[in-house]
Amino acid sequence: MSTPTTIGVIGAGQLARMMIPPAVELGVTIKVLAEAPGMSAGLAATAVGDYRDEATVLDFARTVDVITFDHEHVPQHVLHALVDAGVPVHPGPDALLYAQDKLVMRRKVAELGLPVPDWAAVESADELGAFLDAHGGRAVVKTARGGYDGKGVRVVDDKGGADDWFQALAEDGRGGALLAEELVDFTRELAQQVARRPSGEIVAYPVVETVQKGGVCAEVIAPAPTAGEPAVAVDGAGTTVAEVARDIAVRVAEGIGVTGMLAVELFEARDGRVLVNELAMRPHNSGHWSIDGAVTSQFEQHLRAVLDLPLGDVRPRDPWTVMVNVLGGPVGESLQQRYPQAMAAHPAAKLHGYGKESRPGRKVGHVTVSGADLDRVLAEARAAAAFFEG
Ligand code: ADP
Repeated sequence: MSTPTTIGVIGAGQLARMMIPPAVELGVTIKVLAEAPGMSAGLAATAVGDYRDEATVLDFARTVDVITFDHEHVPQHVLHALVDAGVPVHPGPDALLYAQDKLVMRRKVAELGLPVPDWAAVESADELGAFLDAHGGRAVVKTARGGYDGKGVRVVDDKGGADDWFQALAEDGRGGALLAEELVDFTRELAQQVARRPSGEIVAYPVVETVQKGGVCAEVIAPAPTAGEPAVAVDGAGTTVAEVARDIAVRVAEGIGVTGMLAVELFEARDGRVLVNELAMRPHNSGHWSIDGAVTSQFEQHLRAVLDLPLGDVRPRDPWTVMVNVLGGPVGESLQQRYPQAMAAHPAAKLHGYGKESRPGRKVGHVTVSGADLDRVLAEARAAAAFFEG
């Protein structure tokens, strides 16, 4: 079979947009199914339609060799219709399920023997109460589906603390449960990315440290400082934080058959455990540093993986790379209007704008700085990003 060369991306957010430069460089074609005209990847939108509609997605798929995603919200029945029609879909429906439903994911990751926070599926205030009693009176409660950037995540200390979510599940008619978890005492959050081809080849990026503000990723340090320190090993496979994180992500990718990029969000707990929080099966905010900071960016890697091409070198180009998100953006102005001052002050900073209007809390761009001295790299990346805030 000849190598496929046309990739169809469902969803036109900033991730689809950031797949375009490596596609242009490689000379492969990207087509984007956008939900509405004028979205972030609008420049490249080749079709506009509802990703929840089988006929729309099948029509789009007929114009490409392989389907991949900007987000994980395409319903299972649409994914299966694609597979039944013989369309290569990466990641496939059986893998993507674990990025769509946090309860199904928790159960599976635990079954794979990987460390997760203590958890339970709770269907009522009383069940939540029992979980709280067993966990010192506090817990994190999450909706299984539809959460992002901290929406759908809440710390509760009262069994009535998730009544509105139970109510919404009941009104939905489908019933279902919420995910209750121990409130992890973590020293920091990490993210481990791997890429996996349909043929099985797998590569692992260095583990990175992620800093969240209000449930939203604010900063990423690559690689994670002190990742060479010991951690509680998983089946004795590795002994350092970096090795344990890599082992976990490789086992997740192989255990659930991920194809394309996988990000495993992790907690480094105070007691040395590295615990799985979340999975994302697409390029991820924690990997934006790799556009400027690694030999092969996560976006190029995703394209290679979904085309089943040999994977690229994942090594960092510099000892340290820091990525700072621009959250909100300049009030009443575009990012680009502030480029003159930002570029003059920080010629070494790489500026990325997503073509979105400023709005409080919204990710409208990011800034990357690399170098040999972490303190200086951090300070410069933060200072450059600050030009675009407020
Ligand atoms: P989302 O899908 O919205 O990104 P996450 O499950 O990743 O939601 O949770 C968002 C943030 O909430 C995490 O990055 C972390 O800071 C915090 N958090 C989530 N689960 C826990 C937990 N069990 N213990 C402590 N903090 C948590």
